[in-house]
Amino acid sequence: MEIKTVGVVGAGQMGNGIAHIFSLAGYDVQLTDITQETLDRGLVNIRKNMDRQVSRDKITAEERDIAMGRISTTLALKDLGSSDLIIEAASERETIKNAIFEDLQPHLKPTTILTSNTSSISITRLASRTDRPERFMGLHFMNPVPVMKLVELIRGIATDDETYQTLLKVVDDLGKTSASAEDFPAFIVNRILMPMINEAVYTLYEGVGNVRSIDTSMKLGAAHPMGPLELADFIGLDTCLAIMNVLHEGLADTKYRPCPLLTKYVEAGWLGRKSGRGFYDYRGDTPVPTR
Ligand code: NAD
Repeated sequence: MEIKTVGVVGAGQMGNGIAHIFSLAGYDVQLTDITQETLDRGLVNIRKNMDRQVSRDKITAEERDIAMGRISTTLALKDLGSSDLIIEAASERETIKNAIFEDLQPHLKPTTILTSNTSSISITRLASRTDRPERFMGLHFMNPVPVMKLVELIRGIATDDETYQTLLKVVDDLGKTSASAEDFPAFIVNRILMPMINEAVYTLYEGVGNVRSIDTSMKLGAAHPMGPLELADFIGLDTCLAIMNVLHEGLADTKYRPCPLLTKYVEAGWLGRKSGRGFYDYRGDTPVPTR
């Protein structure tokens, strides 16, 4: 099946990045969110990120202008109904995602493929609530979307081969690399990454090292571009905790229990970069470790 038009639900950090790369690859994109302010902010961010690519000679100013012209915004979810492909990138709450698919359903073409960018929610369960579980998949982009090369493709139990092959081609068209994952909690990247981050928090909790020594050890000792605590702050500590909870509950194995210190940071509202403080304090000129 050929995909030409894409509807993106949610204009947060992921939705913006997804609209950005699809428009640059030549797709017509409609972006929706719940407030006009979020949509306006989204367009400003996409433009800023494309400007950065122009200044680094990754794209030309003309390519930027054409791509920006391919993105339209709407507050009416039903306007996305004529899209060939829907990518849901709204907040990580199952009730929100179910409501979006339910509201969209009466307006969709019979051939429209539905996808979710969820980091951890079961694709099979989301799909089962729609009228087209065979045309439903997980399409999991990494943050920041324009920079990161990987897209995880997650088939639900009912996903048909045509849908999978269509999305393999779309990912290829975007210049990204796909990795296929079965629909088990947190898929591949977060199944491996989050327990490592959680273990780094245990290492801090038990006093084996401080924030700086843990991050320096993994950067220089394991050649990671970012230390695990720095990375946790970048992802958001609430997101890290939510994914650990999905692993813990979904796999029922105590090895996935979230570190109490991670819970404590989230309870304090110290969520990482987005709230100004996490394992580092970002409120000054340079990040300062909080432990
Ligand atoms: P975000 O909070 O930046 O953006 C979510 C957006 O969804 C917000 O703008 C919100 O207003 C909007 N929204 C909420 N309800 C809506 C509705 N009913 N209709 C339309 N829009 C609605 O979150 P994000 O980081 O962009 O994450 C979005 C999704 O992507 C989540 O499922 C998350 O798990 C997944 N994800 C996040 C990352 C990451 O590193 N942040 C990486 C991969 C996947």
